[in-house]
Amino acid sequence: MIKALILDMDNTIFPTKSISDEIFEVIEHLMEEHRGNLNDEQLAEAKTALSRTPFQKVAGQYGFTEEFTTNAIELLKNTTYNKPIKPYKDYEIVESINLPKFLVTFGFVKLQQSKIDGLGVRSHFKEVFVVDPEISSKTKRDIFVDIMEKYGYHKNELLAIGDDPESEIKAAQDLGIKTYLYDPESRFKSGKVTYHEQSYKKLKWLIEDQKE
Ligand SMILES: [Mg+2]
Repeated sequence: MIKALILDMDNTIFPTKSISDEIFEVIEHLMEEHRGNLNDEQLAEAKTALSRTPFQKVAGQYGFTEEFTTNAIELLKNTTYNKPIKPYKDYEIVESINLPKFLVTFGFVKLQQSKIDGLGVRSHFKEVFVVDPEISSKTKRDIFVDIMEKYGYHKNELLAIGDDPESEIKAAQDLGIKTYLYDPESRFKSGKVTYHEQSYKKLKWLIEDQKE
């Protein structure tokens, strides 16, 4: 029986592309200046990747210099988003589920915290975990273990919800926690996730069903 939900934030509660242009405006200009040998197409790809992939990874993949990367990270550490953010329409289904929820999000702490406030979802969660992988060596798997230990949940009592098979979904699978891959744009082929859905409708159904 599922007794609590673990949620990712980016592309799980809201589409990051709705705000990423604003957040990365300055960084994108800097990328142009420091593009090195990247052609227009590669540069455009790198910019697009920013909305889904941690900056450090994008910088590495596209061969930006260490100096540029360090400076950009410093900039991003102090970046916040200070406007309201619209959750996905069907996030209201998640909100309406009467179970304890935990938010686990990785990234620049100030930025992630400002997004939580912009979304206005902080009160929906029993506890919020924001981890900057630059500062902490903790992984999502570690945080999930912390939640199980602190609140006394068995792996069978949790459901991890996220958009990334390589991140929170993988961490949960590793621990034997059930997974719900939220994939509104049908980006993924069916994998070994417990549930693979384009919306949160099924979530409501499966939580309600188990109570009967
Ligand atoms: Mg995500």
